[in-house]
Amino acid sequence: MEEKVSVIGGGTAGLVTAKRLAKLGINTVVYDQKRVLGEPVRASGILSIKGLQKIGMNYSSAITNTLHGARIHANGKTMNISSKPAVAHVLDRKRLNDICHDEAVAEGADVLLGKRVTGRELEGFSSEGIVVGADGAVSEVARHYKIGSIKNYLLTYKAEYNTSHDDHRVVDVFFDGKVSKGLFGWICPNSEDILEVGIGVDSSFGNAMASFKKFISTKEISDVIGNAKRISEGASMIPVSQRSRIVDPKSRVLLVGDAAGQVKPSTGGGIIYGSIAGILAAESIKNYFEHGADLYQYERAYRKTFMLDIWMHEMVKSFYSGVGNMGMGFTLKILEVLGFGRFLGRYGDMDMPSEMARNLLRLGSKNSEISFG
Ligand SMILES: Cc1cc2nc3c(=O)[nH]c(=O)nc-3n(C[C@H](O)[C@H](O)[C@H](O)COP(=O)(O)OP(=O)(O)OC[C@H]3O[C@@H](n4cnc5c(N)ncnc54)[C@H](O)[C@@H]3O)c2cc1C
Repeated sequence: MEEKVSVIGGGTAGLVTAKRLAKLGINTVVYDQKRVLGEPVRASGILSIKGLQKIGMNYSSAITNTLHGARIHANGKTMNISSKPAVAHVLDRKRLNDICHDEAVAEGADVLLGKRVTGRELEGFSSEGIVVGADGAVSEVARHYKIGSIKNYLLTYKAEYNTSHDDHRVVDVFFDGKVSKGLFGWICPNSEDILEVGIGVDSSFGNAMASFKKFISTKEISDVIGNAKRISEGASMIPVSQRSRIVDPKSRVLLVGDAAGQVKPSTGGGIIYGSIAGILAAESIKNYFEHGADLYQYERAYRKTFMLDIWMHEMVKSFYSGVGNMGMGFTLKILEVLGFGRFLGRYGDMDMPSEMARNLLRLGSKNSEISFG
């Protein structure tokens, strides 16, 4: 067998994996069915600065805005999360994809565009080497090799408007069980003069576009967008349950990114988890080629890195999905009074909530009484 890896999918997860594989000296070819990578843009690009630093990508030319916090709204109540240092960047998703592509190619990976890989071709690739399925939420690779299943999808709809709101440094998040269940609505300043408005709903709740229409007709949103021009819009989906397995060692197939369900269940953000998983996958493949190590090493490393955080995100999601509008409004009011937003701004971690728990424990051991405010 050749030391060759075929990566199916040239989204961020596939390209970050390919970059690391090529850097490790492994012959890597990425296949994508699209002729132009990263288009059409159907997803947002809010990424934590801490997470971006972990991926080690030269992303600065994709930044369109920088965020210092969030306002969480429910039932007329608001909790403010604010941080003096910037916590996240909003990135241009097409530009981000291009950067990932250029960095993978610069390391020596080949990228073949306009090539939809079929089940029969997958068999050929896996007999020659290793296959990495990075082919997104509805993964052909996972289906072909019958690797686990994703039980829960969110349907999304979002649009960009040529307008601004009162503070371009914060994202607004709206919980309203009558409009969306399973996620939330959001207003994100993509730049100082472009606002993105979007919504996600559990696939069992119904149609994301219908929810979006309801969302933009609520007073809170219509007051912000007014008669502003809609400059882009589109629907998509997010897998929000992890696959029970992400490796088929017999066929030498690994899954990364949305194909593996590697997203934060409470927000649907997947770029940081999928990219870190891609780096872990590449390291395991290197160990397989060099030392005959078990490919399950990747699955174990992924679960060890993220298990606690995924569990914490799932707890948050179950809470906001089940508590109802009054309960959520009441919770936000109490948390705001306690100053929990300032605590989150200072110690929180958008990707790894377990880091916040560790900070809390560290603080707890220093002070017998902890004040959130
Ligand atoms: C509305 C919305 C908002 C989001 N907001 C954020 C956010 O703010 N922050 C964040 O981190 N994440 C966000 N996400 C999630 C994020 O977009 C995904 O987690 C991420 O794009 C997944 O990357 P990927 O490379 O795994 O898959 P994809 O980006 O889906 O790439 C898969 C690629 O595989 C190709 N492909 C598929 N099948 C084949 C085949 N058979 N042969 C060849 N090529 C194939 C496709 O053409 C595609 O290019 C959002 C998602 C949505 C829908």
